[in-house]
Amino acid sequence: MSMKTLAETNEHAQDAGTTKTTMRAAVVTSPDQPLLIADVPIPVPGRHQALVRVITSGVCHTDLHAARGDWPVAPKADLIPGHEGYGVVVAIGEGVTTLTIGEHVGNAWLWSACGLCEYCVTGWETLCPEQQNGGYSVDGSFGEYMLVDEKFAARIPAGADPVEVAPILCAGVTVYKGLKMTGVKPGQWVVISGIGGLGHIAVQYARAMGMRVAAVDIDDTKLELARHHGAEVTVNAMKGDPGEAIQAATGGAHGVLVTAVHPRAFGQALAVTRRGATIVFNGLPPGDFPANIFDIVLRAITIRGSIVGTRQDLAEALEFYARGQIHPTVHVEPIENINDIFTRMEQGKIDGRIVMRYSDD
Ligand SMILES: [Zn+2]
Ligand SMILES: [Zn+2]
Repeated sequence: MSMKTLAETNEHAQDAGTTKTTMRAAVVTSPDQPLLIADVPIPVPGRHQALVRVITSGVCHTDLHAARGDWPVAPKADLIPGHEGYGVVVAIGEGVTTLTIGEHVGNAWLWSACGLCEYCVTGWETLCPEQQNGGYSVDGSFGEYMLVDEKFAARIPAGADPVEVAPILCAGVTVYKGLKMTGVKPGQWVVISGIGGLGHIAVQYARAMGMRVAAVDIDDTKLELARHHGAEVTVNAMKGDPGEAIQAATGGAHGVLVTAVHPRAFGQALAVTRRGATIVFNGLPPGDFPANIFDIVLRAITIRGSIVGTRQDLAEALEFYARGQIHPTVHVEPIENINDIFTRMEQGKIDGRIVMRYSDD
């Protein structure tokens, strides 16, 4: 990247910070090495892209998978992870008509999609085979600046708290869409299995959507948090049988959202359902789960996966947040802690969501 190009790009930028040409970022150099905190060039927005000065970024479990190279399709080389980035537009690329400098936006896992394939044109852009993923196939928000695509950048509602809003961009939209996919109606029961980074936000969305909530976890403090957010029934799966307890308390759940990171929770989900229920998987542990075919067929149970959400889902998820319905549990840490954050994440020691803050505005 030439300095001239960047200077030209930033000609109209109102942010003094953009006159510099390098930024602090956390870079994946190799799957078996810690992330490198380094000064790297500030990216230059291409056609229909904007340069965003990142204010905060949440740390998602997917970032850990990206850094460790856990998935079949490898991320880009020298990846900067992060897809819960919130910031302010400081420069725009050629052809941009819908974003302006000074606007608050976010990046997302669904960084862009083709807009033309059978999935994109039928409301399933999250399944687009040509999609780009923030902090995976393109650089993300683990740095002081990031790029967004004008058609896919999340528009952040006015008055959003910079720290609280970050987890909405992945965790929030993921559970919100997952809950929609359960088909549970207001007044009906949903079981949230796993009250971690995703699950504690799921309880809040479920309540905001009018659902009655039963929560399952193996940690009493997490179940206490679920009750605080409005769960009427809580079950510690280490101390009791979730199937028996939830059948007794609710008559069987109309839907289940599994956010847990242990495969055991996926098999247990069947036992808590009533006839005709839908079970949605959000969690992504490696492995398989047992499922009784007879039980699924005779009770007409639907089991389905759900991955993040469309732009419309994200806009709706942000709307719930903007109306004060959703308050993720967040802890602020500096980017220098990223390797330690990943270690704690692997050990299951993170309560709620870690959000890295790059500047005070
Ligand atoms: Zn994520
Ligand atoms: Zn497509």
